[in-house]
Amino acid sequence: MAYGSRDLGRDDTGPEVVELQMRLAGFRGTKPDGDYGPGTELQVMTFQRDVMGQASPSGRADLATLAAIQAFGAAHPVNFNLLTCKCGVCDGFGQGKFKGLYQGQVKVEAYYRYEYPGVHRMILWAFRAAMFHAQAKGWTLTVNSGYRCSVDNQQHARSSTNHHGKAIDIDIVGSPTGKVDMERCDALRGILVEKANAQIAWGAPNLKSLEPSNIAPTWVHYDVRSYDKAYLDDRYFVKSQAALDAPPAGV
Ligand SMILES: [Zn+2]
Repeated sequence: MAYGSRDLGRDDTGPEVVELQMRLAGFRGTKPDGDYGPGTELQVMTFQRDVMGQASPSGRADLATLAAIQAFGAAHPVNFNLLTCKCGVCDGFGQGKFKGLYQGQVKVEAYYRYEYPGVHRMILWAFRAAMFHAQAKGWTLTVNSGYRCSVDNQQHARSSTNHHGKAIDIDIVGSPTGKVDMERCDALRGILVEKANAQIAWGAPNLKSLEPSNIAPTWVHYDVRSYDKAYLDDRYFVKSQAALDAPPAGV
């Protein structure tokens, strides 16, 4: 059965559960392992309470909840023009280069050179939730930096590969510069820690990560760098809104 056409609940497993976990990455969030355990149940309950306004959320992803998640996505479009790489050489999302290659000898994700084929769906669904949560503060969020391929890195003398599809940088629209902006970015990080179960820096595996304020004073950097390789498979990266909104083939 295709995602969205049947109820999902406790102890269900498989790709449809992965899809649900990805879409609710900004509501608490867990690792997208396809196992509907207490973490996934908490994600669903959080969405049912915060977005659907249910006083006694069931934690079961019934058809109404799945439809509400779809509608939530539509209500929070992601501007892919803002996500594309600006190097002028790649198609906007790298050239798929450097698979299996690392900077130096240490084979960890922070030094992985691979240009992933798009931006990770989980960070984009988490961004949608961030937009939703920021509304309570009266803030509108935008992407100020998305994909930055190896060519773009060369053009700007950068070495970080975080933006090869695993990260976005978020700005608060119209925020005054200086101290106020810095305080707002700190507050937004706090919201994402509380609401999305994100972490400051990269200490724990399989959590969304935020750069600390000394690295990102006037923007909010959000990434999936600390996720295990299995969760960074090519099929989770997308280049369009349509691909973000549709479950991958076979799900
Ligand atoms: Zn590029």
